[in-house]
Amino acid sequence: MSQFAIAIHGGAGAIPRSGMTTEKEAEYRKGLEEALLAGNTILSSGGSALDAVEAAVKKLEDDPAFNAGRGAVFTNKGTIELDSSIMDGKNLMAGAVTGIKNIKNPVSLARAVMEKSEHVFLSGLGAMEFAEKMQLEFAPDEYFFIQERYDQLLVAKEYDKVILDHAVTGNNNPPSKKGTVGAVALDIHGNIAAATSTGGMTNKKFGRVGDSPVIGAGTYANNATCAISCTGHGEFFIRSVVAHDISCLMEYKGLTLKEACDNVVYQKLVKIGGEGGLVAIDAKGNIEMPFNSEGMFRGMKKSNGEMYVGIYPD
Ligand code: ASP
Repeated sequence: MSQFAIAIHGGAGAIPRSGMTTEKEAEYRKGLEEALLAGNTILSSGGSALDAVEAAVKKLEDDPAFNAGRGAVFTNKGTIELDSSIMDGKNLMAGAVTGIKNIKNPVSLARAVMEKSEHVFLSGLGAMEFAEKMQLEFAPDEYFFIQERYDQLLVAKEYDKVILDHAVTGNNNPPSKKGTVGAVALDIHGNIAAATSTGGMTNKKFGRVGDSPVIGAGTYANNATCAISCTGHGEFFIRSVVAHDISCLMEYKGLTLKEACDNVVYQKLVKIGGEGGLVAIDAKGNIEMPFNSEGMFRGMKKSNGEMYVGIYPD
């Protein structure tokens, strides 16, 4: 049987090591393992990379510990605005949604956009109208209300206020506002795919959209090069067109997956102050999970039995 593999992330830098407890760490690891298993079950029975990344991301969206779907962060107005995208490396088909709410699994909506609409990127009310038409599952506001996330919004707002008042000098660490989930996979047929889903950044304003639903920035897949799902400070990832840049470095410069990922994450992004990381896979089953932040929830599983789950640098 041909090889298969999956790699996932649950966001970069969301929890500083100093704030991590044993219980919390166990909870995150369990969530990551369950998502890996969901994808791996599909891949091991001959299913597609596309099905595997959707299944893994759905698991993470359903887990309130991660900033996507149920566990999404709050906007400045105390609402939830979700973004997601998916791409099939086999045919370069892609689907994405932004600024949606009350959709239980945004990644499935992104996939429906890819497969059942004539478009690639839908936003807000229109995207939700399409979701209704596609009979996707909706969930009430209460489903998305996680107290810890709301508290994070209050902290972020307070921090903004203090900054505006110029009342803070010296050692002021901004609260982390980030988090996202994503997956990349290779199936036994040699196809790769990528998917990403997020609530964006805590306290986001004015309909802000990050990199996660932007094809080429937060997500990209091409059988000829790689599949990538990013997490980090979206503004920098958009400006660096991170996922497509890695693919281009492989395609035009002949770099390996590792060389291309290292170049973008440890050099180009660092140079402009872009914090975060990504998971990447190529059609040979090579996996990379680089990050330049303090940590990145991540994991991978290969058909040869190799498995890894981690949060901070090893
Ligand atoms: N990239 C996401 C965004 O900017 C957030 C994250 O991955 O932490 O919306």
